[in-house]
Amino acid sequence: MGNAVKLSPTSDSQKALISRLEKEAGTSINLCYQCGKCTAGCPAAFAMDYPPRQVIRLLQLGLVEEALNTESVWICASCETCSSRCPRGVDIAALMDAVRREALLQNRVTDKKVAAFNKAFLNGVKWFGRTYEAGLLIQYNTATGQYLKDAELGLPMFLKGKVGILPEKIKGRDAIKKIFERAQEKGGE
Ligand code: SF4
Ligand code: SF4
Repeated sequence: MGNAVKLSPTSDSQKALISRLEKEAGTSINLCYQCGKCTAGCPAAFAMDYPPRQVIRLLQLGLVEEALNTESVWICASCETCSSRCPRGVDIAALMDAVRREALLQNRVTDKKVAAFNKAFLNGVKWFGRTYEAGLLIQYNTATGQYLKDAELGLPMFLKGKVGILPEKIKGRDAIKKIFERAQEKGGE
């Protein structure tokens, strides 16, 4: 359940930001009639401070700062269940993604561990074209200061062939590199 929010007039810059987020997500918040189907199907809603329906409502009310400060955008798993269930065709998953990117740009990360994991995961895909579990763990543990976290699991997992010491590189790495370059041109990290 979200905290109480204070309503105040939406400034032109806040309106412009909401329009930009809609444009980036390729969707419109005004289509939403608050039926709650998105929240009912969201596998992560139980852990969110504002479930997806409420994130949309914050934006409808012009409360973009509150939307950017939610923990929900860091908990969202981008599974797209909400978007596929919406009877109004609102692409909520894309909107959550747009809000998350903006929060990252504005350095409003409410969950530093999730952001560190997100970055480590994307670095692996950028460098090798696919996730590299050992590198992901090392990057994540270093970024969050948990240097020995899960260290006791590393050797048994390696011996059972569950994680490789060296990364596997895929063939289409150039195409992946171009995707990251395009994302950077659009303001991504
Ligand atoms: S399912 Fe669609 S219309 Fe219903 S609350 Fe969610 S975004 Fe709004
Ligand atoms: S994309 Fe995010 S908000 Fe939508 S159902 Fe999945 S976890 Fe929930």
